[in-house]
Amino acid sequence: MGYCLQCGTKTRIEVPKGDNRERAVCPNCHYIHYENPKIICGSLVVSGDKILLCKRAIEPRYGYWTLPAGFMELDETLDQGAARETVEEAQALVINQKLYCIYNLPYLGQVYMLFRGELDGGYGAGDESLECGLYREDQIPWDELAFRSIRRTIEHYYADRKTGHFGLHVETLSRKFED
Ligand SMILES: [Zn+2]
Repeated sequence: MGYCLQCGTKTRIEVPKGDNRERAVCPNCHYIHYENPKIICGSLVVSGDKILLCKRAIEPRYGYWTLPAGFMELDETLDQGAARETVEEAQALVINQKLYCIYNLPYLGQVYMLFRGELDGGYGAGDESLECGLYREDQIPWDELAFRSIRRTIEHYYADRKTGHFGLHVETLSRKFED
């Protein structure tokens, strides 16, 4: 954050009064540029014994498979964001959403919030997807999944299917593994 978002003056890195972290602070208008984690919301969309996967048409991880997910917007709720991403990436409606997996990624400043839900109607490839499809457990392209959070979610889903109990999974993914 080199220049003030409010007035354009070059910022200084300092600990504001009453704070305990370094921030980019404007010496002119005194605006403090707080940086906080971003929320990524997404959907595990289920249809029978299959789940909806999207092949990414964008970087990072172009060509790898993912669940529909993306950054939450300011004017929406978590579940609305997850449903919106599902429309945008997979042209699909998701219903009966239940919060299913939360992943802290402190080294990236991200929190993933993934809902489990049911597919209502059809699907197709949105602008950010090369293709979308419904996959059974034995068809999941495990070696071509885009992110660790996505792989973990799918692993949880098929493990939970066997027990019939779908709890809320909350995990912290640390830097030492690629994601
Ligand atoms: Zn300023």
